[in-house]
Amino acid sequence: MATGKAAILLGPGKGYEIQEFDVPTPEPEGVVIKVSMGGICGSDLHIWRGDSPVFAAMAGNVAGHEMTGRVHSLGSAVTTDSLGRPLKEGDRVCYAYFYHCGRCYQCNRSEFAVCPNKLMTMGPGPVSRFSGAYGEYYYLKPGGKIFKVPDEVTDEIATPVNCALSQVTYGLTKAGMRYGDTVAIQGAGGLGLNAIAVAKEMGADAVIAIDGVPSRLDLAKRFGADEVIDISQMTEPADRINKVKQLTGNRGADIVVEVVGLPAVVPEGLQMLREGGTYLEMGNISFGATTTIDPSQLVWGSKRIVGAIMYDPWVIPEALDFLVRTKNKYPHGDVVSHKFKLDDINDAFTNSEWQTSGDATKVNRAAIIMN
Ligand SMILES: [Zn+2]
Ligand SMILES: [Zn+2]
Repeated sequence: MATGKAAILLGPGKGYEIQEFDVPTPEPEGVVIKVSMGGICGSDLHIWRGDSPVFAAMAGNVAGHEMTGRVHSLGSAVTTDSLGRPLKEGDRVCYAYFYHCGRCYQCNRSEFAVCPNKLMTMGPGPVSRFSGAYGEYYYLKPGGKIFKVPDEVTDEIATPVNCALSQVTYGLTKAGMRYGDTVAIQGAGGLGLNAIAVAKEMGADAVIAIDGVPSRLDLAKRFGADEVIDISQMTEPADRINKVKQLTGNRGADIVVEVVGLPAVVPEGLQMLREGGTYLEMGNISFGATTTIDPSQLVWGSKRIVGAIMYDPWVIPEALDFLVRTKNKYPHGDVVSHKFKLDDINDAFTNSEWQTSGDATKVNRAAIIMN
């Protein structure tokens, strides 16, 4: 039987080990994908560090969730992608890395992104150990959403489609973003940069990006940010809050997006909102990491907090179309600054660490190439 390599997470703080697993034979409604590239997302760094004790449960699994690849083998019942377009071996594809159950209160209301069972279905199943992005193969289980990738979209820019790009597209939609809104974005990593471009394309009047890494701020401008705030220069939260107000007619932003992933930025972000504004929380995935907020600000300011993780299936093909439309307008291909081989995944993570080293200038965002 053919085998393939995959990186197994040994545990938070312990890195990865490459192991070899059988390439599965797909069930009638499953698809085996030959992964071309896997991305390292902020969430993967949280898990790798062990930012929450809960992440210890992920040890022993193939890690990673951002990826793209080609159809390796199709289950006997699969003839099309999730939009009904003919699908064959060798086709380039993007796919969701989670599965809604179809049999719960939320799924019954077509709220697939909030299906409470979607996380449980992400790990290895009875058919395959290939259940993450950092492997030569990925097994898309029955019910998984899969979409053909247009030729104009390269592997480099297709890789973050199933996480960063779809996540921010769904999040801004859920936050009720409207034409003419001002949007402040805390964090200009993978999600933040995508959020800038998506907000602009959704009709933002102005986008303000906030980060402390020069290379990210530079990319933020190229992604369409009208203003950037460099936290390494403007070190006081009160000054940054005033700056956002200044840039938004002394009101504050209509929408503030949190994609830093540190609880400490939340109170500051809430104060950057205008009265009646919406705080979109997507970065803090570490269970048990807390912060203190003053809830009277929500009451007296009539502010909303909207949380979002993952997305509904319609988002992926919209994200791919967005890339086709805007491939020459934004530097999508420049987000990944470094590529590593699967065998060198531990180096890829060590070099991507920005939180303890405070320096993401060397590796802005890394991708793992499978061969
Ligand atoms: Zn991600
Ligand atoms: Zn469900």
